[in-house]
Amino acid sequence: MTERMSEEQRAALHDALAAMPKIELHHHIEGAAPPDFVRRIAAEKRLDVSSIFDAKGAYDYDGFLEFLSVYERATKPLSSPDDYNRLTRAVLEEAREKNVIYIESFVSPAFCGGYDVSAWKEYLDAIREGAAEVPGIALRVIATAVRHFGPEAATKSAICAQESAGDFTVGFGIGGDENHMTPRDFAYAFDAAREAGLRLTGHAGEWGGAKEVREAIEAWGIERVGHGVQSIDDPALVDYLAAAGIVLEVCPGSNVALGVYPDVASHPIEKLREAGVRVTVSTDDPPFFHTDMTKEFTDLSDAFGWTVEDFEDLNQAALEAAFCDETTRARLKERLERYDG
Ligand SMILES: [Zn+2]
Repeated sequence: MTERMSEEQRAALHDALAAMPKIELHHHIEGAAPPDFVRRIAAEKRLDVSSIFDAKGAYDYDGFLEFLSVYERATKPLSSPDDYNRLTRAVLEEAREKNVIYIESFVSPAFCGGYDVSAWKEYLDAIREGAAEVPGIALRVIATAVRHFGPEAATKSAICAQESAGDFTVGFGIGGDENHMTPRDFAYAFDAAREAGLRLTGHAGEWGGAKEVREAIEAWGIERVGHGVQSIDDPALVDYLAAAGIVLEVCPGSNVALGVYPDVASHPIEKLREAGVRVTVSTDDPPFFHTDMTKEFTDLSDAFGWTVEDFEDLNQAALEAAFCDETTRARLKERLERYDG
């Protein structure tokens, strides 16, 4: 179908996808920090962050572990609630330009207050106030543990998450190096978050294979999986995901940038979708992966011939899987329906 599309038709489709309202469920707040913003904050604090940028000023790393290290160094200048207030505004303003209307962002008690509950709440208040200053886009927080910081730290994150559970902090998750220990080692943190009424997601099957996805679902009781794309290598798991209605937070641009797949056309999102798995699309860490929500949509439409209707289905899946309250969901639904592509 894409072959037969004229350049004009393709350009019109790209315009329609750019204008379309979008819902994003897998997004790390520091990972969305525009490089200029990080340089500005670092300069104010007289910190040298030049080693994390290339000659053009973009984030510079080679491979996943170096990406994690650059990510952590990029977050170093962000050391106060006020910094996160400014970060939130910068991030939401960029996303709003791409017509993103709702974001669930991972925020870590490790970086925001060093696991101190009252400090964590101050950071959250600052983030919430920052979000309120950017109308037209709603933000919710998924408190997140960092897997390679270990189970004890994950439990501390879960305690912070418990203490802040409500209409703004709506979920608990885990990210980081999934080759570090096993999902079972982090089960206690998820149990604690579940008890506080938080909705659960976790990174698995980005690098660790289909086995990691199975173990994560079993050990954590999660209803969404961050990435989960390597499930494709286990047909029985794919059937299970489809039957159980477990949602994958798929980030194609991130997977390509980090070398999980060579290009979008080789990405399994199409096959997962055809198999009946509920997939959604997100950017993960947009400036690190030179992407944004409009680019994700247009790249997918170029690779698989997806039309506006396909992206409406994706938005619908994301709307249903969002961890927000029902009033917010109804408001988002109305905004999606108001759009007439
Ligand atoms: Zn992620």
